[in-house]
Amino acid sequence: MVNLAENIALVRERMAAAARRSGRRPEEITLVAVTKTIPPERIQEAVSLGLKDLGENRVQELLAKQPYITGGNWHLIGHLQRNKARQVWDKVCLIHSIDSLELARELDRRAMAAGRRVNILLEVNVAGEESKFGLAPEAVIPFVREITGFTGLRLLGLMTVAPLVKEAEEVRPVFRRLAELRREVEALHLPGVDMHYLSMGMTNDFEVAIEEGANLVRIGTAIFGPRV
Ligand SMILES: *Cc1c(COP(=O)(O)O)cnc(C)c1O
Repeated sequence: MVNLAENIALVRERMAAAARRSGRRPEEITLVAVTKTIPPERIQEAVSLGLKDLGENRVQELLAKQPYITGGNWHLIGHLQRNKARQVWDKVCLIHSIDSLELARELDRRAMAAGRRVNILLEVNVAGEESKFGLAPEAVIPFVREITGFTGLRLLGLMTVAPLVKEAEEVRPVFRRLAELRREVEALHLPGVDMHYLSMGMTNDFEVAIEEGANLVRIGTAIFGPRV
């Protein structure tokens, strides 16, 4: 049986050490507990141990579990189809995976109609993997310019899923590139754009991601154990 308290303490220690190596305070980095495939009772236990930020990659799974959990802030971290935007836009605190104008437009329309704003990150496919979603790095700045007029959206940063490798060190350039892209967008000083977040780093690579500037890490396996 996985000991949640122990796993969380260990992950937090490793995060803190990586933060200090990058000259930052541990409190500057938010841990999003990735709860896909994990049953609600277990998730509630994690929340009671202090993990308030919860990440799901599928809309249906997120909506199914949400009613059973108290005290969580939900993040949608996986691909979002435009036709599912309606179901989820007002159920989450942050959508990490915006990767098309059609989707951005749909969310903007929904939020505007309700007099609200949706917090979003742009997902970037830094390594250009065929199997992954996300904008090409060179598409990010034109995309940001397109959506600056969308007052139903609040752009808060960038997200990436690095390639799966044996040694986390191999993906350092991916994280470095995302951090650089964030600075490039920031330098445009566009109205309504606040590039606060860099969402990068998972169980296999979160320390390297933090060293390169991540302040939102999305961790599942190191907390809950291997998914079955
Ligand atoms: C599953 C998932 C994670 C967490 O992966 P672990 O390797 O279990 O830490 C992070 N981000 C996304 C987008 C995921 O789908």
